[in-house]
Amino acid sequence: MLSLVIPIYNEEKLVDELVRRTISSIESFIQEYEVIFVDDGSTDSSLERILSCQKVYKNIKVLSLSKNFGHQAAYTAGLEYARGDLVAMMDGDLQDPPELMGEMYTKIREENYDVVSGKRTGRKGKNGRVLYEKIFHLLFKRIGEIKNMENTGNYSMMKREAVNALLSMKEKVRYLPGLRTFIGFRQGYVDFVRDDRYKGTPKMNFRNLLVLAADAVFSFSRFPIRFCLVLGSIGALVFMGAGIYVLIAKAYGFAVIGWSSTLLSIYFLGSIQLVFLGILGEYIYRNYKESQNRPVYFVRKFYDGSPEE
Ligand code: UDP
Ligand code: MG
Repeated sequence: MLSLVIPIYNEEKLVDELVRRTISSIESFIQEYEVIFVDDGSTDSSLERILSCQKVYKNIKVLSLSKNFGHQAAYTAGLEYARGDLVAMMDGDLQDPPELMGEMYTKIREENYDVVSGKRTGRKGKNGRVLYEKIFHLLFKRIGEIKNMENTGNYSMMKREAVNALLSMKEKVRYLPGLRTFIGFRQGYVDFVRDDRYKGTPKMNFRNLLVLAADAVFSFSRFPIRFCLVLGSIGALVFMGAGIYVLIAKAYGFAVIGWSSTLLSIYFLGSIQLVFLGILGEYIYRNYKESQNRPVYFVRKFYDGSPEE
C-alpha cells in the first residue's frame, strides 16, 4: 500500500486539478493507496474543497491542523499518520508533477531502492526564485555535511523502514530533505524539470525561504560556528603581530598619534564580535527551541473517510 502526503495551505484554486491529476497518476501503477492531505491551517476554502473531493474519491484522507505550522511540520504530521508500506511526499501546487510517482515506484520495486527522490535538473518559474534555489544548493553542497542532497526537495517516495528512521528523529527543526538524506539506506533519484506552480501564489515568501535555508545550514553543517572560530583565530594572529609592532614602536620612541587606526580597529573588532554573538545566539536559540520540546503540530481533526462524518 502507498500513502501519499500532500501539504495544503490556501490552495483553493488548484485543489480540484491536483486531486484529478494525482489520483489518475497513482491508479496507473497501484490499486491500494491513500492520499493524506494535510490542511496546514488554511484560511480559504481549501479544506471544504478537499472534503468534497473525499466524497467522490474514497481513498482521500484529510488531516486538519489546528493552525498554520509551516510546510515541514505539515509533512511531518502527514508522515506520522501515513500507514502505507510505501510513503510519498509531494507539494500540493503541482510544481512536483504527480506523473513522476510511477517512475519512483518502479525504481523502488525493480531496482530495490529504499528512498527515491526527485532531482531537479531544471526549473521553470520566476527567475528570482529559481536563482535563489540554485545558489542555496550550490552553497549547501560546499558547507553541508550530508552528501547528495543537491537539487532534491520534498518530492520523494520511501519504504516503510526509511520512513520509520526519518520519524525516529524527533528534532523540532525539521529540514526534511536533509533528514531524508541523513538516514542513509539505498538512495536513488529520478530526474525531472520542476514546473512553475499551477495556480495561486507561492506560500513561502522570501523570508520563509531564508528561514528554511538557515534551518538546513544550522541542522546539517557546522559552518557558522567554524567560521567564527577560523576568522576569530586569524584576527587574533593578525592583532598579535600588530601588538608586537606597537610595543616595539613604544620602546624605540616612535609611537605615533594613531587616532584613525585606533578607532578603525575598535569598530572592526566591535562589529565582528557582535556578528559572532549573533551566530552564537542562533545556536542558543535553537537549543532552547529543542529543549522546550513542544509538539511540531496539533491536529484539529482527522477525516479518515469513515461514514460517520
Ligand atoms: N504549504 C504549507 N504550509 C505553509 C506553506 C506552504 O502546507 O505554511 C504547502 C503549500 O500549500 C504547497 C507546499 O507546501 O503545497 C509548498 O509550498 P509553496 O509552493 O508555497 O513553496 P515553494 O514551492 O515556493 O517552496
Ligand atoms: Mg511551490
